[in-house]
Amino acid sequence: MKILFIGSGHGVPEPNRKCSCIYLETQGHRYLIDAGADPTEELIRRGISPDTIESVFITHMHSDHLNGLIPLISLCSWFYKNVKLHVAMPDLRAVPVFRSLLEVEGEKLWEGISFSEVKEGLIFEDGTIRVTAFRTGHIDRSFAFLIEAEGKKLLFTGDMKHGTGPVDDYGRFAARDDLDLAVAECAHFNAMLYEEPLLKHTPKRFCLNHYSWAYVESCYHLMETLKDKVDILLATDGLELEI
Ligand SMILES: [Zn+2]
Repeated sequence: MKILFIGSGHGVPEPNRKCSCIYLETQGHRYLIDAGADPTEELIRRGISPDTIESVFITHMHSDHLNGLIPLISLCSWFYKNVKLHVAMPDLRAVPVFRSLLEVEGEKLWEGISFSEVKEGLIFEDGTIRVTAFRTGHIDRSFAFLIEAEGKKLLFTGDMKHGTGPVDDYGRFAARDDLDLAVAECAHFNAMLYEEPLLKHTPKRFCLNHYSWAYVESCYHLMETLKDKVDILLATDGLELEI
């Protein structure tokens, strides 16, 4: 299974880090987790046709996780008309907005694009991956996703509670010893708050993602502190992981 960080940045794009967008490929099937950055250009640059993305899972409706959906939906509406794209997101009020925008552009939201609402629990299963959503305390409707595929378990935290996410949120869905990968945000708290939960339940790999300037030093501190105990890496745009 392949993970590609299209965007590993936080709310404000940096010169070399775009907003949140992760590509997942498993058994010939392709998915996205968040679409804060426009995924279409990077996918095309890598020879991956955007219309081969089957589902997009949005953790919450903040612009740095959502706005890249617009170019994807737009391209799939007017150009890739054989597309079957499913978008799971926590608030379906965005659908008429997409529809209106496309109408203003002289296009129509293509019928091959479907939407479903993310709620806590099992949200998706297609015979290849299984996605379970857990609420986080970031905003009213914000979620982490546990993705199971090829007998492996991957956790994507999305954004968590300001100030205390690793304590109040991460522990609830990461208190398990069978995670092959945990991709965890660090834009809203000091990374050292991950130390205790990581020592209690250690994933095979722990990837700090969506880290902001304010907390990047703490990310290095966490990596140094746990260097003999936890396999920690810092996500950058273009980072590829084979799980
Ligand atoms: Zn964010």
